[in-house]
Amino acid sequence: METTSNNTQDDIITLLEEPQMVFNDYKLTGLYVPMGISCTFKCIKELKAMNYPLTEKENCHNHHLINCTKKFMSVKKLYEDYIKNNYFIECIILSGLEVMDNMKDLLHFLKEIKNYTNLPVVIFTGYKEEEVADKIKQIKEVTDREIVFKFGRYQPYQKPRYDEIGGITLASGNQYFKII
Ligand code: SF4
Repeated sequence: METTSNNTQDDIITLLEEPQMVFNDYKLTGLYVPMGISCTFKCIKELKAMNYPLTEKENCHNHHLINCTKKFMSVKKLYEDYIKNNYFIECIILSGLEVMDNMKDLLHFLKEIKNYTNLPVVIFTGYKEEEVADKIKQIKEVTDREIVFKFGRYQPYQKPRYDEIGGITLASGNQYFKII
């Protein structure tokens, strides 16, 4: 992995940690790519506002990622090192903290990855669909591939729900997968 100290080069994206295979986040075996390098912690703020009685750690599903040391790499290197020769990978899952707060890297990734693979792309976001309508429009302007989104806040008081599109049971049942 490249470890330059900044990502001012246009072809470099920032990741929170090493990409890795995941088996239970979606119906397809995925390469988890943690491109969400920050978050406004909207889930925590909303739970605090309703005096929900858990710690910040319990109120953010991705809290363990907050203090990760960032990594930097090109989309080409990501493809060559993690996807090209791994025939088990059936999709690419963009996750981390909040992917849709890092639109520069997200748009660059979507533009570049089509040069290397047609694997489905799944975006995990804590935003509600209506909050990111403009960002979805930007995404559709740079790629004509269908994108699978997982929308919605992490709300630990929700009952788990099986999602037909995602093919998994979501712990926070208000969340849902949608193909756009
Ligand atoms: S969107 Fe994700 S990272 Fe942000 S507060 Fe919610 S669970 Fe945590």
